Amino acid sequence: MLYVVATPIGNLEDITLRALKTLKEVDAIAAEDTRHSGILLTKYEIKKPLLSFHSFSGHAKIEKILALLQEGKNVALISDAGTPGISDPGFVLIRAAISAGIQVVPIPGPSAFLSALCVSGLPTDKFLYLGFLPKKKSRKTLLESLREEERTVVFYESPYRILRTLQELQACLGDRQVAVCRELTKMFEEIFRGTLSEAISHGKNKTPKGEFVVVLGGKNFAIDKRLQI
Ligand code: SAM
Repeated sequence: MLYVVATPIGNLEDITLRALKTLKEVDAIAAEDTRHSGILLTKYEIKKPLLSFHSFSGHAKIEKILALLQEGKNVALISDAGTPGISDPGFVLIRAAISAGIQVVPIPGPSAFLSALCVSGLPTDKFLYLGFLPKKKSRKTLLESLREEERTVVFYESPYRILRTLQELQACLGDRQVAVCRELTKMFEEIFRGTLSEAISHGKNKTPKGEFVVVLGGKNFAIDKRLQI
């Protein structure tokens, strides 16, 4: 079986009992970055053969993991943070395992976009998850398509582009409500709730650091000043 195991997005205590049990019981663990995951596995005294599986892993790597699974071995797939397959290379292996008739089992837990969405103060009943925005090609078309989007929009952004992206969103969509969530569950966790222009002023003249999730209000979401802190 291939177990798709969610691991913490920062705070190492954010891991389920079932995830720990699974990681302790499988025959091998496929990890995006074996050194990074080593910190988590050492903390919980989990010693298992580690197979590296990342975005540059070729066909041969997938075949090797599939061969183990086809022998009847149990493998856990973990990523650097959160839920494997959500904007990380896990998808390719999960797809290959399904095609090979392997049973794929979810072991749910954290995901950065869900953590951000639930504390954003923006409507959560319907939302659109965009992963990482395209850098060049189709970026403008995507941003323009959000003009008519009524659902809350969630996406990942890097510290190098966060300010520019907020500025582009404001230029394209006007002053929508936003929650900019940085370093969730970590020491420097910050959740900025306000309008796009307030978020831009907040971020200006600072060097953005860490990992970001942006949660953007939909077209008709009325800005409610009482929600601001
Ligand atoms: N699979 C992961 C998940 O379930 O959330 C996402 C992997 S994606 C390659 C990594 C991106 O997630 C980062 O660039 C950042 O935008 C976001 N992210 C991950 N951890 C985060 C955290 N603690 N706080 C804010 N954003 C985070």
